[in-house]
Amino acid sequence: MIRDHFRVLVVDLATGRGSVVSVEGRDAVAGGSGLAAMLFAKYGRADKPWDDPAQPLIFTIGPLTGYFPLMSKTVCAFKSPYHDHYAESHAGGRSALSLRFADLDGLVIIGRAEKPSCVVVGSRRLEVREAHYLWGMDLQTTGKTLRRMFPGSGHRSILRIGPAGEQGSAMACINVDTNRHFGRLGAGAVMGAKRLKGIVILGDGIFPLPETKEYPKLFQEVYRKLTDTDMMDKYHNLGTPINVAVLNGIRALPIRNLQQTSDDATDGITGERFADDTLLRHMACAGCPVGCIHVGFVREKFMEPNQYLYRQVPYDHEPIFAVGSMLGMTDAFKVLALIDAVDKQGLDVMSAGVALAWATEALEKGILSENETLVPLKFGDEQTYRQAMQHLATGANEFYRLLGQGTMKAAAYYGGTEFACVLGQEMGGYATGEVFFVSQALGFRHSHLDSSGYSYDQKHTDKNVGDAVGFLVRDERERVFLTSMVACLFARGVYSEAVLADCLRSVGYSTLAENIAAVSNSIQKLRWKTRLATGFDPRAVTIPKRFTEITTWKGKVDEGYLAALKEEYARRILEMGREDQG
Ligand code: SF4
Repeated sequence: MIRDHFRVLVVDLATGRGSVVSVEGRDAVAGGSGLAAMLFAKYGRADKPWDDPAQPLIFTIGPLTGYFPLMSKTVCAFKSPYHDHYAESHAGGRSALSLRFADLDGLVIIGRAEKPSCVVVGSRRLEVREAHYLWGMDLQTTGKTLRRMFPGSGHRSILRIGPAGEQGSAMACINVDTNRHFGRLGAGAVMGAKRLKGIVILGDGIFPLPETKEYPKLFQEVYRKLTDTDMMDKYHNLGTPINVAVLNGIRALPIRNLQQTSDDATDGITGERFADDTLLRHMACAGCPVGCIHVGFVREKFMEPNQYLYRQVPYDHEPIFAVGSMLGMTDAFKVLALIDAVDKQGLDVMSAGVALAWATEALEKGILSENETLVPLKFGDEQTYRQAMQHLATGANEFYRLLGQGTMKAAAYYGGTEFACVLGQEMGGYATGEVFFVSQALGFRHSHLDSSGYSYDQKHTDKNVGDAVGFLVRDERERVFLTSMVACLFARGVYSEAVLADCLRSVGYSTLAENIAAVSNSIQKLRWKTRLATGFDPRAVTIPKRFTEITTWKGKVDEGYLAALKEEYARRILEMGREDQG
């Protein structure tokens, strides 16, 4: 329903009660990222730690969710166990549409349940149900159980955590509808700290579509652009794993804890190889005609003779890099088996893979011993990594508990900070050069998707600091409006400012449509202001030596250029976060 305010459900786990509140500010913050930052300012406690019961766990959608294709993400915002700063994570699946059908723009969960519980919300329903029997269950069994407990297939979305979230690991994710994740910066631990094992969103209401002539015409036009262009080929065909061969070809693929950036052995884990050998089917987030989710399979012998079970496992470039090339794995099925093992534990696959890559090199160098790692970690050894993933998720000893708080924390204690592949958090799958390293290290989500620094590196050989940082700031500003619309960033080529303005107008948000540039600018500043208020200091971010030791297609990384980019980007971030919000 079009409304000029936000309809937000606030649930208090301590009392088991909640209420719907009206929050003003649609024309100022739009929704998604902007709304999340505004809600954190209202409900969050910058002065208290991330696991204080009062801290909110926030989920928001945007004004175009349900009205246009690929407006399919939900923004999850929280104070992160990784660094105790304000953080955002994004995921698709059915969560956004279920919130729309539940007639909610946002869901805010505060308090801590007395016993492990799950929350069920719908258009006319709120229930906090005690569910102690789910505690300790892996993510897949939890999913199966919740699906049986709360029928509504196709309309409901199920968010859940695994053992890693229960243990408070800063690498714990929230799984969304099996194949998608709020992956990074430890949102799963925030649920765990609230003793919240699952969230079920019942999309059990209806919402009317605009009855104008323009709306269906515009919808068709957007739909055609999304499906007629090369987007379908790029994301549906081989999907993001196409990057493995491309990056390997330009010496920009992180391999064996970034000791190499290219290796012919990665032929076994290219997008082409995954498609030829392992691909079962494509899937899509609700409301998306592209379907970029690639699902392969793993099988396990559970009994002699020849009795197998199989599981479906989603794959993308990032998981393939993290538990593939970073761990020296060169077999697609073994990579899928590792993705499956990590997912079962409710760990973020990118963080876990990069952390174990560091631990493997530290063990090789004698900085760690098997007393710490418990298993003889070795690049390319799938079985050992499967055991290590479980140790990491459950915090099997002091070493794994510390590693689960972040690779740099473990490296600071045991040694080996210089080869910890950490850029704000465990690195993304691009070793393209200076601009990407700085963009991830200082970027808002420490994500390769904060801005396309990796692409800038691939297109520019000049070393103009002002141009590069100007690009990062502008690109982030454009993306922040998209993530406030909760658009999938794969659609950024179609959802230009002009198209977004038409879409907003067609559903009745004319004021927002007229002010996209100003609103983007103010959301960008609001997010940085919120982040800085929780203690983030971009000047304190360091980039480990390993990133300056590599060679890409442009040659050796230039330490002077890297340092100058970092200084200038930090200055711009502080400027944005400190400017008067007006
Ligand atoms: S392109 Fe992929 S990630 Fe984006 S909405 Fe579609 S299925 Fe989801």
